[in-house]
Amino acid sequence: MKLGTKLIHAGVEPDPSTGAIMTPIFQTSTYVQRAPGDHKGYEYARTQNPTRHALQNALAAIENGKHGICFGSGLAATDAVMKLLSPGDEVIASSDLYGGTYRIFTKVFAKYGIRFHFIDMQDANGIRAHLNAQTKLIWIETPTNPLLNIIDIAACAAIAREKNVLLAVDNTFASPYLQNPLDLGADLVVHSATKYLGGHSDVVHGAVIVKDDALAQQLAFIQNSCGAVPGPQDCFLVLRGLKTLHVRMQRHCENGETIARFLREHPRVGKVFWCGFEDHPNHAVAKKQMRGFGGMISFTLKNDSMEAALKVLSGTKLFSLAESLGGVESLIGHPASMTHASIPREERMKNGLVDSLIRLSVGIEDAADLVDDLQQAIG
Ligand SMILES: *Cc1c(COP(=O)(O)O)cnc(C)c1O
Repeated sequence: MKLGTKLIHAGVEPDPSTGAIMTPIFQTSTYVQRAPGDHKGYEYARTQNPTRHALQNALAAIENGKHGICFGSGLAATDAVMKLLSPGDEVIASSDLYGGTYRIFTKVFAKYGIRFHFIDMQDANGIRAHLNAQTKLIWIETPTNPLLNIIDIAACAAIAREKNVLLAVDNTFASPYLQNPLDLGADLVVHSATKYLGGHSDVVHGAVIVKDDALAQQLAFIQNSCGAVPGPQDCFLVLRGLKTLHVRMQRHCENGETIARFLREHPRVGKVFWCGFEDHPNHAVAKKQMRGFGGMISFTLKNDSMEAALKVLSGTKLFSLAESLGGVESLIGHPASMTHASIPREERMKNGLVDSLIRLSVGIEDAADLVDDLQQAIG
């Protein structure tokens, strides 16, 4: 079955008691048993919920995995993956990570004796220098935030396999419409469904998808034991979002390309970061592992100052100034003062996060209106 069909049909069946075509929101905490242990597969809603069950199966199908395990947020999903590890274990992570991921690694799990190495993985061979007998997990995010660098998933997977180490890929930015890490050899796919999967900026949700039965069992054990489960209403919203993922992503990609090309021609714009450009340093890898280039774009201004950036950020009318991404509406953000403000300026500049860097999550509005909005804001 192709992705567009799976997005609409996988995991869901008409409700057996009524025929409702949409999976109901099973807003219940417990399930009545006929006699002790004689039940219909559902005992208590932290452990099982039919709305969540449908979503987990749908997510497994669209990532070409076997098991989906859902959580109350993307970071709760990351938290569950880290709980597969034990004190003394080591993780090699890409340096250009979502800020919250960096925070949970360094401020929460480091405290429990897990050691992290953050490295530039644009050349996957860089991983080798940090591998040792304690290495248990390689964690990557591609495309990266906010500079849209691309990491070669298959190359990382080959190294992971060779050393018997797990490879986890945060696939939030690409979504399964553009990229399927499990097909490229990854062991775990992590999503913040808050972004493209939900797609409407109305839910916070996360998921892990795997192929391996034993790994799925461990994650389900952590899901139930630690309890960071999503509510049924949130599962319903993500299920509903999935049904249009392919249609939305197609438009995100089209609009992204239009905006990237417009910005590149603009006399006041400095550098434009979008992995669809042929001269993007990782374009060849992007072309190999992705089916399109998405709607995330960053750019700098020739006048590289906070003032110039703030003028653009407060000048757009359709692009709303907000954190997050992946919704139908276009958003604009300023990494230096918003998502990456906690990184010291010196460190930021070293990583290319200059003062005028602006990040766009291009929505699915009419592209001509989005171009007009940026044109009037940039001047
Ligand atoms: C938002 C985000 C997360 C965290 O997800 P939440 O749902 O906000 O907890 C993780 N990774 C990436 C790439 C994200 O954009």
